[in-house]
Amino acid sequence: MIRKLLRRVFKRGEPTPHTVETIGPDQHGIRSEAVSSAARRTCEGLQQAGYRAYVVGGAVRDLIAGIEPKDFDVATDATPEQVRAQFRRSRVIGRRFQIVHVMFGAETIEVSTFRAAHDADTLKDEHGRVLRDNVWGNMEEDAARRDFTVNALYYDPSTGKVFDYHHGVRDLQRKTLRMIGDPRARYREDPVRMLRAVRLAAKLDLRLDPQVQAPIREMAELIDNVPAARLFDEMLKLLFSGHAVECVKRLREDGLHHGLLPLLDVILEQPLGEKFVMLALTDTDRRIREGKRTSPGFLFATLLWHEVLSNWEARKKNGQLPVPALHEAMDEVLDTQGEKLAITRRIAGDIKDVWLLQPRFEKRSGRMPFRLIEHQRFRAAWDFLRLRAESGEAPQELSDWWAAFEQADNAEREALLKPDTGPKKRRRRTRVRKPGEDSTSAIPPAPTFE
Ligand code: ATP
Ligand code: MG
Repeated sequence: MIRKLLRRVFKRGEPTPHTVETIGPDQHGIRSEAVSSAARRTCEGLQQAGYRAYVVGGAVRDLIAGIEPKDFDVATDATPEQVRAQFRRSRVIGRRFQIVHVMFGAETIEVSTFRAAHDADTLKDEHGRVLRDNVWGNMEEDAARRDFTVNALYYDPSTGKVFDYHHGVRDLQRKTLRMIGDPRARYREDPVRMLRAVRLAAKLDLRLDPQVQAPIREMAELIDNVPAARLFDEMLKLLFSGHAVECVKRLREDGLHHGLLPLLDVILEQPLGEKFVMLALTDTDRRIREGKRTSPGFLFATLLWHEVLSNWEARKKNGQLPVPALHEAMDEVLDTQGEKLAITRRIAGDIKDVWLLQPRFEKRSGRMPFRLIEHQRFRAAWDFLRLRAESGEAPQELSDWWAAFEQADNAEREALLKPDTGPKKRRRRTRVRKPGEDSTSAIPPAPTFE
């Protein structure tokens, strides 16, 4: 209590004027209503307790650029424990980079404590990647540790002022993505910044400053040292940024796609594969722009489909039955990817669902189409089939047939069914086993697709 009082009395003033530009609302154009009430309340709560607190990073950048922020982050001089103590619904999370989640209704605000500059004691791996980062500092130090100048902006909701330490507002207006500090050193500390550069440039329509661009090609392989789970998160952000086509194009130009999806470069070099992936990405971008639902499982299913196809084909040529061959092809492709990208179990399950339903679209007689259309993953699998047809890998006629079948009433559906030309299922006959006969010979052969 006394500490709080003292803090309030001796509240440190605004940032030192020679290192920071203070920018008013008429220059930066942020309307206070555009800031989420949860973010405002978090800042107010902390400020009332005597701490400094600002909306920071991507949200400020997006608001100035006229884009609706995805989420709001707050930076403060309160330690995680002090933040925790201020808000009933909050919890400390993370180890490498400790932050506090403050919950207001459905919204969660990430609150981070100002970080100090790295020094010789900072824990790094043998490639220079920072491993732990929980040394508190002041706001100026915190700004210097952020990646790009446009991300080092601090907005105070109670005064409407933006504090800008690295000419981020100017760079945003000039449409340039500039690194704070030496880009090579910053990429070494955290190679994910290369991906962030690509993603943010595409999202905000920024040009990469030549010094940000130049080292990427030669440093791209540092991505290999990033833990798979983090890479997967970053990949999701990139693919669901609403600018996936642009991002993937840039990744290819910079040679960054090799380290990400080990097979992406192979896929993109097969004409059919490239067409399919690009159609899927274009579709995802459009859905995001229209505010429609998207699914990581579906998108990863498209990214990896051509690998599964060729693996599956090879297995069938070797005499494996189609269904077990498909299962093994799927597992092998997902395992290979898993080494680089920690695709979560749930998403891997969604991916497999979409793949496994594909051969079932070929069954257009009997009861199979009726069962398929009732399947809970039918929509996703059908969207997938449509993309396959559009890219030329599956017959357009098949996709059109399913469109007609889906629209039709029951009687029309019956009329659409194809005559059953497949091999008749052998009836299981019960026969008396002769003494000494091997029991497995009585098992009928597994059903085949096609
Ligand atoms: P978006 O929310 O649009 O994905 P963002 O820039 O807000 O982009 P976040 O991951 O939300 O990305 O990060 C919030 C802020 O934290 C950034 O704006 C930046 O200031 C800082 N930051 C994030 N990642 C890094 C990093 N790898 N290195 C340095 N600073 C980072
Ligand atoms: Mg953000």
